[in-house]
Amino acid sequence: MALNILLGFAAFCFMEFVAWSNHKYIMHGFLWDWHKDHHRSDSKKGSMPLNTESKHFEKNDRFFIMYATPAIIFLIIGLTFNYSAMIAMGIGISSYGLTYFFIHDVIIHERLPLRFLQKHENSYIKAIRRAHLAHHRPKTKKDFHIYGLLVFPRRFLKQ
Ligand SMILES: [Zn+2]
Ligand SMILES: [Zn+2]
Repeated sequence: MALNILLGFAAFCFMEFVAWSNHKYIMHGFLWDWHKDHHRSDSKKGSMPLNTESKHFEKNDRFFIMYATPAIIFLIIGLTFNYSAMIAMGIGISSYGLTYFFIHDVIIHERLPLRFLQKHENSYIKAIRRAHLAHHRPKTKKDFHIYGLLVFPRRFLKQ
């Protein structure tokens, strides 16, 4: 049991690495075509980047399906053959996906009208938001290169 919790947690952490590396090398690389609509409002003055309560899906949302697939496969195999380790990893990957969705899509980009989540005073989440918005609207070259979500340069904590 303890080992499975550890495994689930490791899968969760590993997904931050997957998200960072894919964002850097794939989404801003050969699959830029899927990601670019997520950056379409970056240069619009005033409104926050992509404050999309417009209820439209983005091409970028395809990545959710891409990341959900391994988690679903892990869970199906795990539950069918009773492999607890695979269930644990499936839960870890899915938890990361949910966390990413709530922080990135609901809290930062306000794609769903869940005000109670968007009005928060948590300093870590505020720092995540600052760091992610720096990727969308970089003031320096360094800012743009923030490709992770939960892990970001320490300077954003101090602001
Ligand atoms: Zn990006
Ligand atoms: Zn974003």
